[in-house]
Amino acid sequence: MWKYKMPVEVDFGYGSRQHITNLPELAGRRLLVATDERLAETPMIAELIESLSAVEVFTDIEPNPTVESVDALADRLRSTKAEALVAIGGGSVLDCAKAAAVLALDSADSIRHFHSGGAALPSTRLPLVVIPTTAGTGSEVTPFAVLDDRAQGIKAPLGGNALYPSVALIDPQLTESLPLSVTAASGLDALSHCMEGYWSINHQPLCDLMAIEGARIVFENLERAMLEPSDSEARSKMSYAALLGGMAFQLPKNAMVHACSFPLSQQAHLSHGAACAFTLEFALRLNAPATGGRMERFAAGCGFETIDDMAAAIRHLKQVGGLPITLRDVGIKEDEVDALIAG
Ligand code: ZN
Repeated sequence: MWKYKMPVEVDFGYGSRQHITNLPELAGRRLLVATDERLAETPMIAELIESLSAVEVFTDIEPNPTVESVDALADRLRSTKAEALVAIGGGSVLDCAKAAAVLALDSADSIRHFHSGGAALPSTRLPLVVIPTTAGTGSEVTPFAVLDDRAQGIKAPLGGNALYPSVALIDPQLTESLPLSVTAASGLDALSHCMEGYWSINHQPLCDLMAIEGARIVFENLERAMLEPSDSEARSKMSYAALLGGMAFQLPKNAMVHACSFPLSQQAHLSHGAACAFTLEFALRLNAPATGGRMERFAAGCGFETIDDMAAAIRHLKQVGGLPITLRDVGIKEDEVDALIAG
């Protein structure tokens, strides 16, 4: 028995960001735009923001977003009486916006109440349009927001149906200016979502289809997107793979690679994608023998003869992208390993 659900309207393609001015979800509403400072200054995003006549452009969002960032954005949504939220950015901006769009309509003063506090997330939020500027997170189609609560030492996902955005405008053109390291980390995050959704104990047939197809596309296109950043075909394929990865794991949920990524990004300050890529090839070798031949079928679907070949291809992509491979690369010393495991 299985269920599939994905309530986000997806509008995909080069230039699709321009459809934002015709969305009924935003028509006649007071808009607030959430993005980050660097993005707000890039010509394509600046022009997009300009077209929206927002009541405010909020840019105070930390990478690996904190509960404080969510609380601050929710405060601004309330104080400006915003009636809808547009989030433009990578996973950090999108996750922060998703959580803030819910909190803004609730009487709780902090998202902490629902994150570490364990209260059930409310079922309503402000209308929310998301425009991803990386290809990897899949946050545009998932009911999760990964938040960092530094005061409590907790970095964990918050989950709930209200975290599905209303609309995702996925415009691969926005990813053309990403630096190599971000293209690599986010692309391997997408691959992690495909693999984790597939080897999750909650795997199911529709997500399996999307997982294999998403992974195949990553293996065929990520290196090209890294080495030829303005190759529009490779960028478009990577945005599509990230979308498939998001849809492939949002119901089965992630597993050990993401679980390990949280202490890694907290202790070694790795980006989410780099932290997932860090353990991916090792987790593949560890998990494959326990999946009853499923991972061999996954590898075959991606064009590999063996699990070893697929693991080597992951290592190669990490090397091309300049991502860390060993604990020494990320600056974790031998006497810090126990604390990392405990985390
Ligand atoms: Zn991820």
